[in-house]
Amino acid sequence: MTHLTLQAVTRRFGAAQAVDSVDLSVPDGKLVCFLGPSGCGKTTLLRMIAGLETPTSGSIHFAGRDITRLPANQRDFGMVFQSLALFPHMTVAQNVAYPLKLRKTARDQQTRRVAELLELIQLPHMANRPVTQLSGGQRQRVAIARAIASQPKLLLLDEPLSALDAKLREAMQMEIRLLQQRLGITTIMVTHDQREAMTMADEIVVMEKGRIAQVGKPLDIYRDPVSEFVADFIGLGNILPVTYDGAGGVNLPGGRRISVAQTARMPASGSDIRLLIRPEDVCVKPASDSAAPNRLAGTVTFIRDVGASLEATIDCAGFTLTAATTPRETPGLTLGMPVLAELPSHACKLIAARAAH
Ligand code: ATP
Repeated sequence: MTHLTLQAVTRRFGAAQAVDSVDLSVPDGKLVCFLGPSGCGKTTLLRMIAGLETPTSGSIHFAGRDITRLPANQRDFGMVFQSLALFPHMTVAQNVAYPLKLRKTARDQQTRRVAELLELIQLPHMANRPVTQLSGGQRQRVAIARAIASQPKLLLLDEPLSALDAKLREAMQMEIRLLQQRLGITTIMVTHDQREAMTMADEIVVMEKGRIAQVGKPLDIYRDPVSEFVADFIGLGNILPVTYDGAGGVNLPGGRRISVAQTARMPASGSDIRLLIRPEDVCVKPASDSAAPNRLAGTVTFIRDVGASLEATIDCAGFTLTAATTPRETPGLTLGMPVLAELPSHACKLIAARAAH
């Protein structure tokens, strides 16, 4: 069932179009990430769903009801926004109890619910500690507990982990995801970190200049991006300008021809086309291997070996490729070494080039 629907939602600030005619359905119980570069309109879109911002035009429906102009405090959504920080003069328990107090929940029920929530975020021993004495990660957990205290039907998170260091951030990503799945609460989270979106989301909404560039499951978007912008934003990729002959072959920069598998979304033949191949799909072979089709001669110009994984940059005369492998898969790789880079045709995706600015 779809709980939240946005129809042609637009928000202008003066002449600037922050959000431009966005249509979206958010399925019940899922975690959806709004992902995109700075200024693409993610926060503005989330704020309109929260009721902290009013659309210039368009409508927002929740559970069958038009909420476009309903004030934020009447929406009953849980929110973790940077602008809605924890109350510094209160303890952990007081912060978590705050929404319950606002709703005039009975005292004993408040106490029970707060204890339950502190258990959930694994901070039951810190109930009486002032929030100013918590670590960043603990504070974020309290903010989430406060946001879900009154059992909202929708949880809205705006870059909830941006202030945390990398390790804590990854731990919190897992925690939020597990909590969200356990509670089955429909959640929308804004992030500009594609790894975070890939890790946490059921669905990613990639945004570009106020519009939706693509919506889909993380791996579907990674494997089949609709445009150069999306391909470039989601994950690492080799993106090469090519010409397509309309018959399963492309000419690479420098003139070599390779074959590509036909897919449902083939662009028309022509020149404004890019070939996308992910680094993990580039196979590095010894130069002495046979020169089969789709194998390109090149030279290793850079190696990033971090033990568990290895990334090699290969100069193929006319363009460079990045190949992701492991030290075990490609032992003995050295700088300046001649190699063959194989681009399997099934892993070569053709996409439309990004429109010139
Ligand atoms: P970030 O990741 O940097 O937070 P974002 O994708 O969340 O970016 P928004 O904050 O939604 O982007 O902003 C989208 C555009 O709208 C930007 O160009 C921004 O400058 C503009 N904008 C946002 N809020 C306002 C405002 N209150 N007044 C004027 N312009 C605004």
